[in-house]
Amino acid sequence: MDVIEKVLRDVKKRNPHEPEFYQAVEEVLTTLKPVIEKNARYRNIGILERLVEPERQIIFRVPWVDDKGNVNVNRGFRVQFNSAIGPYKGGIRFHPSVYSGIIKFLGFEQIFKNSLSGLPIGGGKGGSDFDPKNKSDGEIMRFCQSFMNELYRHIGADVDIPAGDIGVGKREIGYLFGQYKKLKNGYEAGVFTGKGLTYGGSLVRNEATGYGLIYFVKRMLEENNHSLKNQKIIISGAGNVAIHACEKSIQMGAHVIAMCDSKGYIYDEDGINIETIKRIKEVERKRISEYVKYHENAKYYEGQKNIWNVKCDLALPCATQNDITLDEAKKLVENGVKFIGEGANMPCTNDALKLFLENDILVAPAKAANAGGVSTSALEMSQNSIRLSWTFEEVDTKLKEIMENIFETTSNSAKMYSDKNNYIAGANIAGFIKVAEAMLSQGII
Ligand code: GLU
Repeated sequence: MDVIEKVLRDVKKRNPHEPEFYQAVEEVLTTLKPVIEKNARYRNIGILERLVEPERQIIFRVPWVDDKGNVNVNRGFRVQFNSAIGPYKGGIRFHPSVYSGIIKFLGFEQIFKNSLSGLPIGGGKGGSDFDPKNKSDGEIMRFCQSFMNELYRHIGADVDIPAGDIGVGKREIGYLFGQYKKLKNGYEAGVFTGKGLTYGGSLVRNEATGYGLIYFVKRMLEENNHSLKNQKIIISGAGNVAIHACEKSIQMGAHVIAMCDSKGYIYDEDGINIETIKRIKEVERKRISEYVKYHENAKYYEGQKNIWNVKCDLALPCATQNDITLDEAKKLVENGVKFIGEGANMPCTNDALKLFLENDILVAPAKAANAGGVSTSALEMSQNSIRLSWTFEEVDTKLKEIMENIFETTSNSAKMYSDKNNYIAGANIAGFIKVAEAMLSQGII
């Protein structure tokens, strides 16, 4: 049995009932074969064995009082996965589906994503099974304060820097940061990213994941003699990533025809109006079905997954993990999809990705394509360190450069170790090599 098979077997055994974590590890490790075979140094000092085991995992009680006076208890998590190339860095997710398997898969992915960004940030992730939906502002604030009452002792600007993710946006980050500041009695702006612009946030951080995805996809298309202009696009999700991917796609001359939320999808042959989506989702916080009230040619269909029945050139899964399983992938392939751009973390199952590659569909993999968010977080940290703020144009230019560099790195290692169009392998390998080299230099710790 080779080392990869052995590590995979051990991961399954030691992390039972955590299928998402196993899926993420399997996806990476199976693409690393050519590097591990070529490089005995990585085999001899247990790089893979150490890589799949988080450096530290913190699980804690989060008690809070709701508006009726009832005491509620949620579970909080922070997984500090790998600090070989920088302090732990990664978002916090509040969603009822959160448990250790979800946080570990996200933390594991974050190691490679952050490495690919070219910036000095390690991998971590946190969250809670708290559901922010239908909670009052006061309840959200009390929950965030209680969450931080424990988390604060484990984070720091040079230790571990959280940010947002699903269910954690500007409002939550404000409450979390405020409580940290109170507990520490000091203004350590660099301990959190995704902050509001009035207290140390960076311009473009809000748009960065969606914009970065489109900058990456644009380069991938150019490399293969295509352009975004007039491409028919469908986007799953209606959150921060989906909205800004839609906005940038439209700016680039593409035609976004469908978007969805967790209940159903809208189809608009005339092209999605991003201002309407922003108003419904960001201001009114309503369902996407409202869209058809304002656009008479648009139609609403029940069932989020049905969006993948819509014929398109480019599919951008920007909702959550495992959005595209083998069934949805088959539908997309039958309908002639040409490109996939993963905006969410692990939005395609491993068999779905395999099917795309077998059918010569170009896939922009999440770890590379959605790295714009965390990269801009690192730019926010830089600004906090020098106590200056850059303009929108300055940050956007840097983001564009970072995404283009990530594409070059990904594409070069795909050419060197795999097939030139296998950007999945390219991203995993490039992300891995930097971390492995740093681990190698730092001894067995
Ligand atoms: N949650 C985002 C991600 O998945 C951003 C993390 C960050 O900015 O630290 O990459």
